[in-house]
Amino acid sequence: MIHNRALLTGEHVKQISKGVTLKHGRWICSQCHSTRQSHFYQYRSVILDKKIVYCRNCVNIGRVDNMNDVFLIETHNVKSSCHYQLPFELSEQQQFASKKIVTAIAHLRSLLLHAVTGAGKTEMIFEGIKYARNEGLNIAIVSPRVDVVIEVSMRIKKAFVDEDIDVLHQSSQQQFDGHFVIATVHQLYRFKQHFDLIIVDEVDAFPLSVDPTLMQTLVHASKFKHCHILMTATPPRVLMRQIKHLEVIALPARFHRYPLPVPRFQFLKINPHKKQYKLLKYLQQQIEQQRYTLVFFNNIDVMKRLFHLYKNEVPSLTYVYSDDALRFDKIERLRRGDHQIVFTTTILERGFTMAYLDVLILNSHLFEANAIVQIAGRVGRKAEAPTGLVLCMHEGITLPMLQARHSIKKMNKLAQKRGWID
Ligand SMILES: [Zn+2]
Repeated sequence: MIHNRALLTGEHVKQISKGVTLKHGRWICSQCHSTRQSHFYQYRSVILDKKIVYCRNCVNIGRVDNMNDVFLIETHNVKSSCHYQLPFELSEQQQFASKKIVTAIAHLRSLLLHAVTGAGKTEMIFEGIKYARNEGLNIAIVSPRVDVVIEVSMRIKKAFVDEDIDVLHQSSQQQFDGHFVIATVHQLYRFKQHFDLIIVDEVDAFPLSVDPTLMQTLVHASKFKHCHILMTATPPRVLMRQIKHLEVIALPARFHRYPLPVPRFQFLKINPHKKQYKLLKYLQQQIEQQRYTLVFFNNIDVMKRLFHLYKNEVPSLTYVYSDDALRFDKIERLRRGDHQIVFTTTILERGFTMAYLDVLILNSHLFEANAIVQIAGRVGRKAEAPTGLVLCMHEGITLPMLQARHSIKKMNKLAQKRGWID
């Protein structure tokens, strides 16, 4: 979909309409398909002497209103040879998943891959991408999170060097014809009935998990007959209910054939006003043993208080949270190994990988099961350091804590049974 007539060159226009239209007395957005009337903002233009209505729900990817036309371009399919290079061999489980994905694409059937953290999901989809592009299918690899999009796009571009890949997010625009797209979910608003294949990484992450209309975006961006491959380490119950009809494939093993670290529970009531020997001793031990440690908090104020309590005893201690102005800088320094101990909120719950890492969850009785599984999943990701410690400090063991530990043990057992871990 294009907003500006001047951008049209040789394309065949399938449909022209206003960006926002009125149907049975209700406003509808042509871009994000919202019908929620609170999304529409109205004002009177003095110059035009008319009422202008625009959609606020999708305004960050381009404003559409009831005055200006939007153009729907005829979609077409182009084959490409789509060679890729992988500097290592896929694990047994990755090969199994890769075959399942190719079969699903060939039959335009959708799949949910329940793959544990560190399973090596990105590499599993390479053969499927090649198959799809050889057949001329239009493909999109999307994630709700921009940091995942950037990370995954770097790996895919490195493997598929000859392909014209459009990487779309807030600060990256379309350059090619949209046959091979890597994007945030919001960017799919630009496409209507265009994709044959959409692969969604981290399908349970915010904002996809809380905004059901974004799930609809996948459907609007896809052709009538399509294949959706959804990937997650922690499928939420709401999603499982929405997609009951999907085949679910469990991928319980990490690529390096070591089991997932199982969380340990230890009682400690955190006092934000007083230094606590048990916690201080743990942090000092971690430093002595030359391990990196992420300490997770569910409350920024408590995190800052504890930082000031412990900063003198713990050299290079730092903290990071989502609204932190120095967030990206701090994470970069963390990756370089400048900080042995980092206090963090759940922003580092996903996507962060580093060797020789342990995690401590403070007040773990206040965390949800999926958050504990994701946090535990930061540990032991690298082949050179495949083990580590996941410690939950709590004021009483909760059901979510037990559920998290149970689901991790269950995946380890399944991986063992299939002979995918040693
Ligand atoms: Zn909209």
